[in-house]
Amino acid sequence: MARIAYVDGRYLPITAASVSIEDRGFQFADSIYEVLKRINGRLIDADRHLARLRRSLGELQIAQPCSEAALLRIVQETLARNALKDALIYIQVSRGAAPRNHPFPASTRPTLVVTVRRLSLPSQLEREQGAGVVTAPDQRWGRCDIKSTGLLPNVLAKQEAQQAGAREAWLVSGEGTEAVVTEGSSTNAWIVDAAGVLRTHPATPAILGGVTRSVVLELARAEGIAVEERAFTLGELAKAREAFLTSATSLVLPVTRIDGRPVANGMPGETTRRLMACYAERCGLPAHR
Ligand code: PMP
Repeated sequence: MARIAYVDGRYLPITAASVSIEDRGFQFADSIYEVLKRINGRLIDADRHLARLRRSLGELQIAQPCSEAALLRIVQETLARNALKDALIYIQVSRGAAPRNHPFPASTRPTLVVTVRRLSLPSQLEREQGAGVVTAPDQRWGRCDIKSTGLLPNVLAKQEAQQAGAREAWLVSGEGTEAVVTEGSSTNAWIVDAAGVLRTHPATPAILGGVTRSVVLELARAEGIAVEERAFTLGELAKAREAFLTSATSLVLPVTRIDGRPVANGMPGETTRRLMACYAERCGLPAHR
């Protein structure tokens, strides 16, 4: 069955779906996106994803392409047309198409694209053994809190990770052991530090405030785990007891190798496993996921 995409009011086979070459998403990466998942017919944390979409649009003064109720109907219709139950949903909104010129055009309609695909969650092997990450310089702009499609530094870092046989690149800002880990190229980064405190970078413009990050913070607090939204350095990472990453598609995934060296004993830690189970339960997945 052909995959169907929604583009500006029409449902089309992906191969026939297109936007203008003058679309500002293509010309300037003047566009934002959102990624969420559906599991067992239920959109997971749709309210938080829609709130972040609204915020990203607001920060760039891009108009809402339609009401949120209409957007949810489009998402459901795209899922139905692709006959998908468990799915990854990708929503992209650009400022629209206009003759190429840097300032915002006076009157354009935003372009809205919705695509869906089968949800592919981390394998059992990866969940049991943990993933490898490499560290790479954070070369991004100063507003990483906006979920912009300007992802070239993220793409380059992920490519570096892949070429090193790792799942993810953790982006590092600064020099030497005092350099801090901001986040992953498409995930948020966490450790349990040498003192046993769960740490992740605060939600500043230096990172994307992950929806999974916000949920895991709440789950950790509810579990009585000591948690601090405080950046960790490469020096602290080297001494960490545990590490993991989070995103809508990776869920909570242990990180057991960093730049080829094991984290602690090289196996997923206890706090990580607890949070994996809590988050899986929230998504309606078996706890062992
Ligand atoms: N940071 C970056 C740079 C990302 O691209 C993502 C994926 N959207 C995340 C963090 C994780 O966000 P979420 O938990 O909302 O998927």
